[in-house]
Amino acid sequence: MKLDEAKLYHKIDAVVVGAGLAGLRAALEIARNGFQVAVISKVYPTRSHSGAAQGGIAAALANVKEDSLDLHMFDTIKGGDYLGDQDVIEFFISEAVKTVYEFENMGVPFSRTEDGRINQRDFGGHSSPRACFSADITGHVLLHTLYEQCVKQHVHFFNEFQVFSLLIENDSCKGVVAWDIRNGGMHTFHSKSVLLATGGYGRAYKITSNAHANTGDALALILECGLPLEDMEFVQFHPTGLYKHGILLSEAARGEGAYILNDKGERFMKNYAATKMELGPRDVVSRAEQTEINEGRGIGGKDYVYLDLRHIGKERIMERLPQVYDLALNYLKVDAIKEPIPIQPTAHYSMGGIPANVRTEVIKDAKGSIIKGLYTAGEASCLSVHGANRLGTNSLQDAATFGRIAGISMSQFVRDNKFENLPANPQDAALKKVSTFMNGTGKERHSVIRALLQNGMTKLAGVFRTEEDMLKLRVLVKELQERFKNVTIDDKGNSYNMDLIEAFEVSNLLSFSETIVEGAIARKESRGAHYRNDYPKRDDENWLRHTLAWQTEKGVVLDHSKEVIIFRDRYAPQERKY
Ligand SMILES: Cc1cc2nc3c(=O)[nH]c(=O)nc-3n(C[C@H](O)[C@H](O)[C@H](O)COP(=O)(O)OP(=O)(O)OC[C@H]3O[C@@H](n4cnc5c(N)ncnc54)[C@H](O)[C@@H]3O)c2cc1C
Repeated sequence: MKLDEAKLYHKIDAVVVGAGLAGLRAALEIARNGFQVAVISKVYPTRSHSGAAQGGIAAALANVKEDSLDLHMFDTIKGGDYLGDQDVIEFFISEAVKTVYEFENMGVPFSRTEDGRINQRDFGGHSSPRACFSADITGHVLLHTLYEQCVKQHVHFFNEFQVFSLLIENDSCKGVVAWDIRNGGMHTFHSKSVLLATGGYGRAYKITSNAHANTGDALALILECGLPLEDMEFVQFHPTGLYKHGILLSEAARGEGAYILNDKGERFMKNYAATKMELGPRDVVSRAEQTEINEGRGIGGKDYVYLDLRHIGKERIMERLPQVYDLALNYLKVDAIKEPIPIQPTAHYSMGGIPANVRTEVIKDAKGSIIKGLYTAGEASCLSVHGANRLGTNSLQDAATFGRIAGISMSQFVRDNKFENLPANPQDAALKKVSTFMNGTGKERHSVIRALLQNGMTKLAGVFRTEEDMLKLRVLVKELQERFKNVTIDDKGNSYNMDLIEAFEVSNLLSFSETIVEGAIARKESRGAHYRNDYPKRDDENWLRHTLAWQTEKGVVLDHSKEVIIFRDRYAPQERKY
């Protein structure tokens, strides 16, 4: 049955919010199981940030060199500085190989070895070449292939619809309410099950590799419903952001052998990760880079270092890294065949997110009690596969694998459950947001508040953190939240009202950023991507535990009682050296 977009009420088995890798993989699974599924996406599906992924998708296929599931598991646990839940990681690794072959069977054009197998390249923190790739446009080909498969299976797409509120009552999710960006108008989606797959939230930072749409909408909506977020203090900074822009130069460049150099022309990683050198994990390389910059060894004493591809040679650069080459040329006018590229750390990935169990069911407390009918997958979620720091290429894998698992869980739920009644006046909360912005009389501008927040987050909660800085940031975020109450928008129209969309998104950034700051102030240790100058050591005795954060009228409330699942006989915590 075709759903009618002109209607404002839609009743449908399953709703998927987000059309990135996680959302599309889930939708495909649900449609293949014969259930009705609608995908709601604020951007056109193939414009989702998954399409920007360059380097590859991890799986221990052992096509190039010896590898094993055990090794992939160990690398992931160690990369995450032992904060990942090992039961979830074990399941994830065991499903990863299947996920890649499924993509191959769908027709994804992977780069090949000479004898025709899927080629694999090195990536940071992985001890064997494990990244299956398609030149440096891996996310693009995966996303397009999945979208085609969804169209073939008659998944219904509500493109350019933005979810403004969740319909949760008595620990049960009954649907979502979304704004039609193209025409205006609020739509109610009444469904048995909902997947939140809204991706990352790098846009809380000024220097970021993330797309403009990565504003963590679902995270703010979860907080608004009185539910917690998990491990929000762990934000990954990628070492090779294009200087001043933050746009990502894929780690594939280092996988293909690129060097990182300081002002003296030194490959300084020898002082920080002598074995892995440039292929150390991202937290380690970003800190090394920032230390060189802070100690005056940035290029010309400035706040950048060099990524050097020259020795790789023109032919291989153009075959394996064409996008990296184009980005440097188009944005910095640097010809990477002849010159090194200026780079700096860039906010890239969110390890934290909406807490869920291995079936992708959203949980509401440290005991793991679930919200019925509500699921999450991909970067918006925290299952926790990546612990305190994600390894490159494990994220496309996470999104695709747990997208599929969400599809399986949701199909089962839809089969076994009836529609519940909607709450009374389901659109009230969403409509109130629109009218507050449209009818406000205050003088504040959301763009000004966003810039202040992004600057503050980059300066005060970046690669290195201190209590002093973060206390300042706490005050700033509170002040900006207050000022935001006086935001009014100029555009009062319905069609493509980006003023409205952006105001909503800035309110979301302001909301969840508070949980990053509070989580980071509370965690008095250094682990993975969270590095405290004032507590430079990992402290397993006190901090080998997850953070859950709720937003309440009295401010953010934290709970550290959720334990990390560790198989002590196999992967007991060790010091992390590379
Ligand atoms: C530049 C870059 C390169 C990367 N390279 C790699 C790589 O090589 N390998 C790897 O493993 N990982 C990589 N990553 C990380 C990886 O790409 C992402 O973590 C992953 O693709 C996230 O997928 P997702 O489905 O969770 O979200 P996304 O692909 O970000 O999709 C989010 C979706 O949510 C929708 N949405 C958001 N809010 C709303 C709302 N309110 N209403 C409706 N829809 C909404 C958006 O429209 C979009 O469709 C990279 C990331 C970046 C930024």
